[in-house]
Amino acid sequence: PAQPRRLLVTGAAGFIGANFVHHWHARFPHDPLVVLDVLTYAGRRGTLAPLEAQGALTFVHDDIGNGPLVRELLATHHITHVVHFAAESHVDRSIAAPDTFVRTNVWGTHTLLEAARAVWCQGGRWREGVRFHHISTDEVFGALGAHDAPFTEASPYHPSSPYSASKAGADHLVRAAGNTYGLPYVITHCANNYGPYQHTEKLLPHMLRRALMGEKLPLYGDGLQQREWLHVHDHCAMLERVLLAPGVEGESFNLAGYDERTNLDAVTQLCAVLDARFGADPLLASRYPACPAARGEPCISLLAHVTDRPGHDRRYALNGDKLRTRLGIGPRIPFAQGLADTVDWYLANAGW
Ligand code: NAD
Repeated sequence: PAQPRRLLVTGAAGFIGANFVHHWHARFPHDPLVVLDVLTYAGRRGTLAPLEAQGALTFVHDDIGNGPLVRELLATHHITHVVHFAAESHVDRSIAAPDTFVRTNVWGTHTLLEAARAVWCQGGRWREGVRFHHISTDEVFGALGAHDAPFTEASPYHPSSPYSASKAGADHLVRAAGNTYGLPYVITHCANNYGPYQHTEKLLPHMLRRALMGEKLPLYGDGLQQREWLHVHDHCAMLERVLLAPGVEGESFNLAGYDERTNLDAVTQLCAVLDARFGADPLLASRYPACPAARGEPCISLLAHVTDRPGHDRRYALNGDKLRTRLGIGPRIPFAQGLADTVDWYLANAGW
């Protein structure tokens, strides 16, 4: 039988990392998992508690910028794969306070790369079977015009925000480590994720929480910015496929959602799902009396257009053909279904 992989997953107390760790454990229960997360405002260790309780996961509460610690983790746990999610991830915060974005996304990634080189590369030879997988974003490519073809893996980088610039910096450092030292790496660029465990600062959970509380739904500008949506469970299945694929070191893959819609449309659909849930379950009205749906009014009545974010990219879209043709996988969860499941998850997990 194949040797179990031994994963160091950074940032797994956050949204996508947590989903990934749960996914990986369900698929490969014998693979040891080490999580490194400093638990910023965006990290919740409780999300991983069931796995910790089973002894399936070792949680290390520390910063990816702590090089000696990362080296020790890589060596003592005989890590074969670093799956690097840890980042400052919220564009609005990067505009207000960019320093931590540079520190974590650029310097933190550099520290991980140097630790991997110190432990995995001896006398210029890299250990067999190791890989550094960097989780990047479609935002590094900048904005598309309304009629432009979606970004491919070969599209040039044009980041607009401190967030996307710091992620672009990280991507460049990963590639440089590959080109200069021979690091076996893969980079994946994914579209806007949604699903369980997402922080309520992000568009869909933010609007959902506010609608339940009967608060205005603040939408930037005209709301016609186009985003491509990818359910986080689809994302995890794609990451699994890429991680296990042989012979893809030194490459990048777009993880597309193939589902472009405006922010206005996404919020309108979210409100419609919520209206329907209140119609079907009278208990919701007593739990959330301030929600318009509790009075039989549509949640979208709370919509309020607010001044647009500076440098707001109008459109992102990815061409995911390489992933489909090379590795035979694409998204499977239609937005309408994924959105309904997501609303149900948040209603059932009111703590979020
Ligand atoms: P998140 O903000 O929900 O979680 C980030 C996690 O990283 C948190 O648990 C946080 O505590 C941890 N972290 C932050 N700084 C750290 C540090 N210095 N050391 C250790 N841990 C640290 O983010 P997310 O939405 O799950 O995104 C995960 C990755 O995916 C990020 O790299 C992000 O750039 C990328 N990405 C996300 C999306 C999306 O739609 N959410 C889209 C494209 C790419």
